[in-house]
Parts: sequence; C-alpha cells; structure tokens
Amino acid sequence: MLVAWDVTSEQEALRARDNLVASVSHELRTPLTSVLGYLELALDEDDLSERVRRYLDTALGSGERLLAIIADILISSRRSRTSVEAAVHPREIDALEVVRESVLALRPLADDRVIKVTVSGAERAVVFADPGRPRQVVDNLLGNALKFNRDGGAVELAVTTDGRETTITVRDTGVGIEPADQEHVFDRFFRASEDVAGNGLGLAITQDIVKAHEGRISVASEPGIGSIFTVVFPAHAQKRVPG
Ligand code: ADP
Repeated sequence: MLVAWDVTSEQEALRARDNLVASVSHELRTPLTSVLGYLELALDEDDLSERVRRYLDTALGSGERLLAIIADILISSRRSRTSVEAAVHPREIDALEVVRESVLALRPLADDRVIKVTVSGAERAVVFADPGRPRQVVDNLLGNALKFNRDGGAVELAVTTDGRETTITVRDTGVGIEPADQEHVFDRFFRASEDVAGNGLGLAITQDIVKAHEGRISVASEPGIGSIFTVVFPAHAQKRVPG
C-alpha cells in the first residue's frame, strides 16, 4: 500500500512565514540602529549623573543584544545554521558570571510575578564559546522559565563542570510540556499553546547556537510540575579528528 502526503501547501505556508519574519526583522533593524546611535551620543555627554549613566548603559546593552537577536532571526528564517557557525569565534567564558548577569537583567520580570530565582554552581566553570552567545542561550531559557511559570513559583539555575564540558540547567515550576510536545519544542514556530505570547523561534535559535558550538541541549518536563532545560557546552577547544 502506498501512502502519500501532499506537503506543498505546508511548505508554502512555512516559506511565507519565513519571508514575513525575515522582512519584519529586517525592518526592525533600521530604527533600532538609530536608537543605539542616540544612546551612544547621550552617553558621550559629560554632565550625566551616575544613575542616568547606568540606565543608559543598560539600555544600550539590551539594544545591542536585540540587534544580535534580530540578526539571528534573519539567519534562522533563511534556514541555515552555517552562518551562526561561521560567526563563532570562541574563547573561555565564565559560565557562572553569564548566568548571574542574565538573572540580573531579567530580575524585573521575575519580581513582577513574585518568582524566586536562585543560582548555584561551580565558581570555575568555563564554556568555550563565542562571547555573547552563552548569554543569549541563558536569556532565552530563563525568559521561558519565567514566562511559563506560575505567580509565586521558582526557577533554579545551576552550573556544573567536569573540566571537559560545562552544563547549565534551568529548572522551573511552570506549566510543563506534554510528552508528545517535548520533541517539538526546538522546532521553528512550534508553540504548545496560545495562552502565552511568543513566536516559537527562541528555542530553535537557542538550539542553533548550541549546536554551532558543538554543544547539546535537552528538555525533561512534567505537565503541571515544571521543566528542566539542560545545555552542555565544551569547556575548551574541540580536538578535530584528522581527515
Ligand atoms: P516562544 O516562547 O516564543 O513561544 P520558544 O521557541 O522559546 O518560543 O518555545 C517554544 C514553545 O515551547 C513555547 O511556546 C512553549 O509551548 C514551550 N516551552 C518553552 N519553554 C518552556 C518552559 N520552560 N515551560 C513550558 N513550556 C515551555
């Protein structure tokens, strides 16, 4: 017996969505570049108070990350991982520092919903990665752990290392993910429900970044209890197998 599916319309829908995402991201770039330019100009002023300088610095940092994310969405919507790989210039990065910075940046989101965020881990845990990328990964995972949590819930981030690989885990007390959905959460545009706003690209981009670093990402989850996302990065340069 022969079973055939016509996937033409599905492919067309996916392509149309790709094009839409690509053009929206592209259009966002111009105004964002202008915002960053003016923030830099403002920071050049001599008579800023320390507090205002800190606010502007934070806004500039967030804007720069947003620009990097837009670049990734463009890459991911063109369905190629090679561009992320080509842009990887790895060096040794302190994993715990990355996690702490991400927690600090997302603290207002956590506080709004009275979610307790804790960090534990090895002081000397290194990830061998392109600067900025581990932060983007942790921001995405922590962002989801907060977004899909319940008010008054908790998020635990942990860093461990065996010197060869460094593992970052993000555990939440959120809605969890049905077993059938777990294998799809890293697919582009996949969203388990429409209850919470999102575009279904965050985890796809996160997986692209992790794979481009020869790392691994996985999820374990129990509906109604919570989820754990585990990311493993190499702790030093990978030995290339000759040939
Ligand atoms: P978005 O968050 O924009 O929807 P993501 O790619 O980050 O896109 O996540 C895809 C889907 O995976 C989410 O819509 C949600 O259904 C599920 N998901 C991701 N992280 C979690 C989490 N921590 N808890 C529960 N569900 C999650």
